Amino acid sequence: MPNANLHADSRLNIEENVPLAPFTSFRIGGPARFLVGARSLRELQEALRFAQKMQLPFCILGGGSNLLISDDGFPGVAIRLLMHRVTRSGGMVQVQAGFDLTTLVHRTVAWGLSGLESLAGIPGTVGGAVRGNAGAYGGAIGDVLATVSVLDTVTLQTVTLRRDECAFGYRDCRFKRDPGLVVVGALLALVPGDPDQIAAKVAQTLAKREAKQLSCDKSAGSFFMNPKVDDADLIDRFEEDQGVRCRECRIPAGWLIDQAGLRNLRVGGAAVSHRHANYLVNTGAATAADMVQLARLVRKEVQMKLGVVLKEEVSPLGVVI
Ligand SMILES: Cc1cc2nc3c(=O)[nH]c(=O)nc-3n(C[C@H](O)[C@H](O)[C@H](O)COP(=O)(O)OP(=O)(O)OC[C@H]3O[C@@H](n4cnc5c(N)ncnc54)[C@H](O)[C@@H]3O)c2cc1C
Repeated sequence: MPNANLHADSRLNIEENVPLAPFTSFRIGGPARFLVGARSLRELQEALRFAQKMQLPFCILGGGSNLLISDDGFPGVAIRLLMHRVTRSGGMVQVQAGFDLTTLVHRTVAWGLSGLESLAGIPGTVGGAVRGNAGAYGGAIGDVLATVSVLDTVTLQTVTLRRDECAFGYRDCRFKRDPGLVVVGALLALVPGDPDQIAAKVAQTLAKREAKQLSCDKSAGSFFMNPKVDDADLIDRFEEDQGVRCRECRIPAGWLIDQAGLRNLRVGGAAVSHRHANYLVNTGAATAADMVQLARLVRKEVQMKLGVVLKEEVSPLGVVI
């Protein structure tokens, strides 16, 4: 991995032909033509200028916990967001995009601030979480954001948007649909509370995740989003089987995959997890091609057997799922 200082007047650390698999939770993905770690907003701007100068595409890597990268890698500049400052004033927490989400949850517990308890145990960075409106157990990061700061990758200017300008929805927001905007920071509006009660809620979330074995190795968490279903019989079947009401007519994709009898299905080194049917896992030497083929097979079978079309939650880079 030679450290090519190709950007003569910069202190950016630019590496060439770097395998991306180690930067993803799947441990899948070929090399990036260039890899840059951006430790500040200025370095992010410089990295984007470098991509512009080289006339190459760029991509953003957070914690890599929601990314499926092609076996051919990325033929441009991959930028890892490494800026991770966090400051607090009362209930307001200002945090940079590269900060680890789980560390943030624990930090807010120590500060006696409530609002992030249901997000405990979700891997990745704050920026990645904002971009995908990550959440669990009825809560999502978009619920507690006051503002989001983004960098426009064309003008290289930052803009701060209020929460109501970000169009947060289920695993969705404005930045997911516009890759020209990079999330660089967020201001969270949290509520002061009793540290012991907040810590107890975090412990409950982690225990629920542990019970469902949601910390599965070499996966990207839930591969598919929970689809909205309009088949009343299927909803009844789900509610009867699970003893719970479905929220907003969304049925867990894992239950559908299970009903279709696909648990343990394999393609090459990729498999539907035996622990959690919506986790597609790399059992050792899976390629992106294996994972894509498995995902397509799962989608086809679920559609054929249950009439529901699954859409991926995982972010593809250089692959079409
Ligand atoms: C074991 C496991 C459990 C999980 N459980 C959950 C869960 O309960 N709920 C949930 O919602 N998710 C879950 N996930 C998925 C994942 O953790 C989240 O989607 C996480 O928020 C992704 O953040 P990241 O920093 O790793 O993003 P990455 O994987 O690095 O990137 C994902 C996408 O976001 C883009 N991106 C990253 N950072 C930025 C940025 N700053 N600005 C703009 N675009 C950006 C990338 O280009 C890419 O397209 C789980 C994953 C794993 C492995």
